[in-house]
Amino acid sequence: MGAYQDFYRRSIDQRDAFWTEQAQLIDWHKPFGKVLDYSKPPFAKWFVGGETNLCHNALDRHLAARGDQKALIFISTETGQEQTWSFRELHTEVSRCAAMIRGQGVAKGDRVLIYMPMIPEAVFAMLACARLGAVHSVVFGGFAAHSLAARIDDARPKLMITADGGLRGGRAILYQPMFSEALRISKSPPGKVIVFNRGLDPDLKLKPGRDLDYETLRAQHMDEAVPVTWLEASEPSYILYTSGTTGQPKGVQRDTGGYAVALAASMKHIYDGRPGETMFTTSDIGWVVGHSYIVYGPLIHGMTTILYEGLPIRPDAGIWWKIVSEHKVTVMFSSPTAARVLKKQDPAYLKKYDLSGLRHLFLAGEPLDEPTHRWMSDAIGRPVIDHYWQTETGWPILSAVPGIEATPVKPGSPSFPVFGYDLRLLRESDASEAGPNEKCVVAVIPPLPPGCMTTVWGDDERFVRTYFTSFRDKLVYTTFDWGIRDADGYYFILGRTDDVINVAGHRLGTREIEEAVQAHPNVAEVAVVGVADPVKGQMPLAFAVVKDATRIATPKLRASHEQEVMNTVDKMLGAIGRPSRVHFVTLLPKTRSGKLLRRTIQALAEGRDPGDLTTIEDPGALEQIRAALAVKR
Ligand code: AMP
Repeated sequence: MGAYQDFYRRSIDQRDAFWTEQAQLIDWHKPFGKVLDYSKPPFAKWFVGGETNLCHNALDRHLAARGDQKALIFISTETGQEQTWSFRELHTEVSRCAAMIRGQGVAKGDRVLIYMPMIPEAVFAMLACARLGAVHSVVFGGFAAHSLAARIDDARPKLMITADGGLRGGRAILYQPMFSEALRISKSPPGKVIVFNRGLDPDLKLKPGRDLDYETLRAQHMDEAVPVTWLEASEPSYILYTSGTTGQPKGVQRDTGGYAVALAASMKHIYDGRPGETMFTTSDIGWVVGHSYIVYGPLIHGMTTILYEGLPIRPDAGIWWKIVSEHKVTVMFSSPTAARVLKKQDPAYLKKYDLSGLRHLFLAGEPLDEPTHRWMSDAIGRPVIDHYWQTETGWPILSAVPGIEATPVKPGSPSFPVFGYDLRLLRESDASEAGPNEKCVVAVIPPLPPGCMTTVWGDDERFVRTYFTSFRDKLVYTTFDWGIRDADGYYFILGRTDDVINVAGHRLGTREIEEAVQAHPNVAEVAVVGVADPVKGQMPLAFAVVKDATRIATPKLRASHEQEVMNTVDKMLGAIGRPSRVHFVTLLPKTRSGKLLRRTIQALAEGRDPGDLTTIEDPGALEQIRAALAVKR
């Protein structure tokens, strides 16, 4: 291993020269002066004074050379639709959408909340906001009213763009009950709501004066050209909320210039894609992977991107591989959970198609276990690359970088630090550096590279406090993940240092789920822990203390009460946060100072030794947890 190491070292040791070179991968309306302003650590301003625009880089700049090339392919196995837009057609459609948004009084810096299923209009809306310099905040369609309202209240959008519903496994998930309730309980609801009607909800009703029909509005703006609004490199492009240890999600704020450069560099060096080729990312636009590698990354790099609505195994487990083969996909990006879902199917489905054009399959979002890595590579006969990153970073932290050098992969390891990240494994006690195979905290010495979050939306102090104060006297970004490095320099991620859990690659805060459980009027107290799950990685499990015990006096009453509590979570947070079980106890294990012993509960639920129990206030609480876990449903 030499070429990548040299490339990496240069990114750290000759940072400004390295990033000046990478910055040539995008178009600048006005060239930047200084590469980095780091006068106010840990706040980093990249490409100071440079002016650019994400939508221009994704669309306009490709029109001359690849106007007729496919830009977006939408495939829905839910509706049977397949539709394609060339760069030119997508540019026209995004202009229309930008005109619609501008028509509602949205200007540079205004927020637009996008609550949409996996349909092309979601992509148009994101790119249209970028074109106008408006800050989009996409909220995953699986989040329910309460979660949506919390994000509305924090982002204070001028406009919301939504649809009547999404489809999953042939079932419609209606959005109006969610967004109407969210708008009702929100303290600062947007004045206008554009609704795309897919014909899924016969009861869809638009509120006069507030709600507008997408198609009607579109018809009024058919030929309107909207010029690009140039942004200074560090002006915000979007906000994306993510969970942490508190109940209040954080708005990860991303800049414009640094993000565009980081994406362009990652597309070339990490994903090893070539302009003119096709990328297929199976995530959802509601997550960071969807932002970076369904929408912006591939388009900025002049690649065709595939937007897929549907499941990986419907109509059968061959569907994704059929798409890869038919659309000549060269770069694919998916999740370990999807791989584990496929692993339960007959591998013949995956072997049926010619996948020889697929250079790599990248997986991220959660730990990729070694057997699944091996199984996946065997099943598709193509190289599988595990890589590690976070909503906060916007692009990979640890990965093989095959565009620079084809290093061998070790199943179970996301390989090495990515260029630009001065990554360290630090001891929790004194921030000193770990030795080989020593479990320590994965940290980054700031400044964070281009593309990473620049602050928490509206709360600079929270940004510093949350991410940079884990080690006393040392300003270091913590990932909140444990990791080790083996003697060959390969890294392994060993789970979170905080109470965040990861369900099917989706990060959820245990506190957020606890708040949703506690919204049930009969729940006095609750503890939620993440428990290992063979398919989804982790599943939330709840232990609740009820106020009125007569409501759980018989097994039948208990079962229906458990269901009621689960329904409350569905309504508040969304089914994505629903615990696999809600066990009822009269006491929760806590320390004498009243801190919930979540790790002890988690160990018991996973059949592990709970370790040192001397701090527990009442050992009887553990007996109750054990007894609850022993009862089979
Ligand atoms: P999110 O911001 O929702 O993408 O979640 C990021 C978190 O997912 C990380 O902090 C890790 O805990 C976990 N994660 C992401 N990718 C990987 C990976 N390749 N291996 C292990 N954990 C991962």
